[in-house]
Amino acid sequence: MVCMRFNKGAYALINALLLLVLGACGAQVNQLDPALLEKAEGAREVSLTWLSEAITASNDLSERSSLQRIKGILEERAILAAPSDYKEICDQHGTAAFVIDDLSSSYIYLCEGVGETSKSALAQILIHEATHIHGERDECNTTRWELKIMDLAARIPHKNAYVDECGL
Ligand SMILES: [Zn+2]
Repeated sequence: MVCMRFNKGAYALINALLLLVLGACGAQVNQLDPALLEKAEGAREVSLTWLSEAITASNDLSERSSLQRIKGILEERAILAAPSDYKEICDQHGTAAFVIDDLSSSYIYLCEGVGETSKSALAQILIHEATHIHGERDECNTTRWELKIMDLAARIPHKNAYVDECGL
């Protein structure tokens, strides 16, 4: 696994290079269609801004270090189209994006339906998925982090499907 940090402008290029390397290794990678890729990268920028604001606003040392790690994940992970093997995940009610069980090496996968989602809602979805990759598997706890970050960044959160389910 190659892990590096890149400046913001390099994401799209780095993702393209990463996909080339993975493609050459025979791993299954599904590039997003250009319009969705542009939207996803725009949403990534927004989510990183919110995370920076949340880190600045947080008074809690351990919370800040978790937020830093979530931000680092969002800076590095490729955002890909959901592979066809995972189609049933996307067909489940309300699923816009997901990560796979091997969190340490998972990419962020977007379902086709996410094309209808606004950039700001997608930014929040990316934060949710990055929180999973950070190690949080429980959907209620992940949503708590998502809402906490929006609150610290002083943004009005979008309500995901778990908000009511988890009584948040
Ligand atoms: Zn989730």
